[in-house]
Amino acid sequence: MSRLFVVILLACLALPLHAEGFLTRLLDKPVPGGVAVVPLPETDEPVKATYQGKPVLTVREDGKRWIAIVGIPLTVKPGTEQIEVGSGQPLSFTVQPREYEAQHITLRNQQQVTPDAARLKRIQRELEEQIAAYRQFSPRQPSNLLFDRPVDGRLSSAFGLRRFFNGEERNPHSGLDFAVPTGTPIKAPAAGQVILVGDYFFNGKTVFVDHGQGLISMFCHLSDIDVKVGDEINRGGVVGKVGATGRATGPHLHWNVSLNDARVDPAIFIGAFE
Ligand SMILES: [Zn+2]
Repeated sequence: MSRLFVVILLACLALPLHAEGFLTRLLDKPVPGGVAVVPLPETDEPVKATYQGKPVLTVREDGKRWIAIVGIPLTVKPGTEQIEVGSGQPLSFTVQPREYEAQHITLRNQQQVTPDAARLKRIQRELEEQIAAYRQFSPRQPSNLLFDRPVDGRLSSAFGLRRFFNGEERNPHSGLDFAVPTGTPIKAPAAGQVILVGDYFFNGKTVFVDHGQGLISMFCHLSDIDVKVGDEINRGGVVGKVGATGRATGPHLHWNVSLNDARVDPAIFIGAFE
């Protein structure tokens, strides 16, 4: 036997029985604020699955087996989690620990740190409106799961930073920031439908795009909104322009990605997760 043949033979034997597909390699980052890819039972029919009572995204990987792509909320503790699949046995996956750093931000407007009662009422109303958008679940398949970057620019603040405004701890950073100038066009990272636009106390001018099956992008602090609710957006279509509206210390794009109503690290979807 030639030496080359032996090397090739050994390499083949070392391959796993089921080689992971592209989507699994890209998206399987099972940490709090990450994504778990769970293989589903072999079947020709689409399989429905839920996590924490919410429907999850299921796709056919490489045109073959069905997988569930599950968003893991930042609040989930490391350990074993389960998804429910039809009437069958629940399927387990393991959430690994991940450390998130602290970030201290100084705001001149103390109302943006500790709002008064009237503003709290407005904030609560706006929060409910946005949560309802995140909970929408449309049957369409996302056009692409390897997302395009919505703007070209330096990544400034990472997802998941524990945030202190004027020394007071507030909600962790729910998205990914790009440092880009005011007026930069924001392009849809995948096709979708505009399901909500608003001008909010914290998020400023905001657009929600539903990419399908609970996969939703939110863009905020915009200077201009170029779309309205119901609009169909092509991959790369412009939804608005970068600004500094709402609670922002300067112009930047804040981009949230939500899966089954869990805000997850957008870096995963652009292949920039570390
Ligand atoms: Zn941000």
